Amino acid sequence: MSNPLQPAWSGPHGGVPPFDKIKVAHFKPALEAAMAEQLAEIDRIANDPAPPTFANTIEAMERSGRMLDRVGNVYGVWSSTLRTPDFQEVEREMEPKLAAFRDQVIQNEKLFKRIAAVYEAREKSGLDAEQKRLAWLKYQDFARSGARLEAGAKAKLSGINQRLATLYTEFSQNVLADENSALILEKDSDLAGLPESLREAAAEAARERGRPGKWAILNTRSSVEPFLTYSERRDLRRKVWEAFVSRGDNGNERDNKKIIREIVKLRGERARLLGYPSHAHWRLEMSMAKTPERATQLMEAVWKPAVKRVAEEVADMQAMADKEGAGIRIEPWDYRFYAEKVRKARYDVDDNEVMPYLQLENLREAMFWVAGELLDLHFTPVTDVPVYHPDVRVWEVKDGAGKHVALFYFDPYARTDKSSGAWMNAYRNQERFDGEVTTIVSNNSNFVKGKPGEPVLVSWDDAVTLFHEFGHALHGMSSSVRYPSLSGTNVDRDYVEFPSQLLEHWLATPEVLNKYARHCKTGEPIPQALVRKIERASKFNKGFENVEYLSSALVDMRMHLDPEKVGDLTEFERGTLSSLGMPKEMVMRHRLPHFGHLFSGDSYSAGYYSYLWADTLSADAFEAFTEAGSAYDKQVAKKLREHVFSTGNSIDPAESYRAFRGRDAGIDALMRRRGFAPPIQPRQ
Ligand SMILES: [Zn+2]
Repeated sequence: MSNPLQPAWSGPHGGVPPFDKIKVAHFKPALEAAMAEQLAEIDRIANDPAPPTFANTIEAMERSGRMLDRVGNVYGVWSSTLRTPDFQEVEREMEPKLAAFRDQVIQNEKLFKRIAAVYEAREKSGLDAEQKRLAWLKYQDFARSGARLEAGAKAKLSGINQRLATLYTEFSQNVLADENSALILEKDSDLAGLPESLREAAAEAARERGRPGKWAILNTRSSVEPFLTYSERRDLRRKVWEAFVSRGDNGNERDNKKIIREIVKLRGERARLLGYPSHAHWRLEMSMAKTPERATQLMEAVWKPAVKRVAEEVADMQAMADKEGAGIRIEPWDYRFYAEKVRKARYDVDDNEVMPYLQLENLREAMFWVAGELLDLHFTPVTDVPVYHPDVRVWEVKDGAGKHVALFYFDPYARTDKSSGAWMNAYRNQERFDGEVTTIVSNNSNFVKGKPGEPVLVSWDDAVTLFHEFGHALHGMSSSVRYPSLSGTNVDRDYVEFPSQLLEHWLATPEVLNKYARHCKTGEPIPQALVRKIERASKFNKGFENVEYLSSALVDMRMHLDPEKVGDLTEFERGTLSSLGMPKEMVMRHRLPHFGHLFSGDSYSAGYYSYLWADTLSADAFEAFTEAGSAYDKQVAKKLREHVFSTGNSIDPAESYRAFRGRDAGIDALMRRRGFAPPIQPRQ
């Protein structure tokens, strides 16, 4: 029986994932075959009788594991977008096996000796800059993952990694289950205050759940936040809010608190085994920030003005509530509702007025246009490649000279078994050391699909997120390096959000708004007066946004610096927030029991600060365009492409940034962007 996941991809564009042929039952045998194949390849490299060279060791490793890359990337698509109960079973079985496999490669002593020899000889063996960097990164990866430990410690480490893999899977499956729950509203009066589009979405969600004629508020961010913004029913706001902030924290079989305590404890043990004072020190060593202290310093610089701003925002909202005679004190389930009222009163701008101008398909066209202007990438729809769901669409991407570059898959709509939020996936990384390949990336989000023929309208915030994820996609597609390990978004965690956050800035440019923000009924472009109102209101509610984010990032860092202090998780969270001076009218953006960035895997653990770090760069980088007089300045765009979007991890990110900007980024642009410092006055 042939397994469609195993062979090299066939079909157009240098081969594409065979999505139309894949069944859940294929994953386990394909992953096992792919791991066995790579172990055999690694064995050949490790036992090569020839003395170690860059070509027979590092390049040979880059060439190995091709099947595992292919199978693993498709497995990643299922795990984020098609996570059915039978697939979840595969994850529970395979995640610890994949962790053990990785350790088996890392802990291969003969292999590590060869890598170390190539690394040590890197300055005098005729390597170019990209090859030297790859040798350094490979050596670091192995050494930091325990390749130098003695046998007993290696076995212990591998045990920890396998246990962690199991815990990460349990954690994220629990969150998904809690997000699949919904509050059913029975009566029309339960919908008081909700705009038409939300009522329709709630009715559709109830129909899908077998409750036609009722309304369902899903326990996901994209359902909960609009409800909290518009619902006039304070009792229901509280109910929806409580369910949302209690994900993973309900004392039932899906409760994540015990899992988290074990994760944090094991991470601490692992860090000590590897010779680091804490998990945070270990994670940050290979980041731009380098140390927890530097990351914390940046967070604290923004934290204080943000908390001060929250006090002002709460005072404004309390005054609004008092004026209405509401007879309440602002509580966390009131924040979004009264913030929206203050925003309307002060800036005369209302998301319901803006949304008819923000049609999903027009925004997608707008992003494609920006990609053409900034990065010389051009999109044409194709229908000759298989997709995993009929709603997924694909574009071929070419450069200005007509040379084929990449494929872009777009999966915009919410579905059961799909993770909430928005993200980018890479199906195939750019490389050229064995010939050019077609880069394949995707963007995924959770818009509620409209009725056939009706445009999908999105909020301003969601439009920003679309541009953000597309920034990741462009980072992948613009990559121009030799080796796949150095390609595209394979960069430091606190650098990877830089291109994506930077691209967010182009949504608000007049070029995009005039051409693409057109009214869904009349086709009229968005009025200038409304654009000016959006601009004026753009610094509004920044206290809330920053405190919501920074409290999560600071708790993450403290937890991973000192796991001994964690003990009772609820107590730890409460105590840490109170020592930080968290305003009582708000909660963290992600409370610990459902903080997927930290506990679905290692990647953003002790790393939630990364968004702030990268935003320091993106705010400063966008000012390069402002200073040049246009967001589409050709000279600045060319530098951006050459030094940021195309370089992947082939040079040190701090150096890339300096090459683009002529200097390091300071914090001033960030403070201006976040509304904590006055904007620069345009020069005459
Ligand atoms: Zn991102």
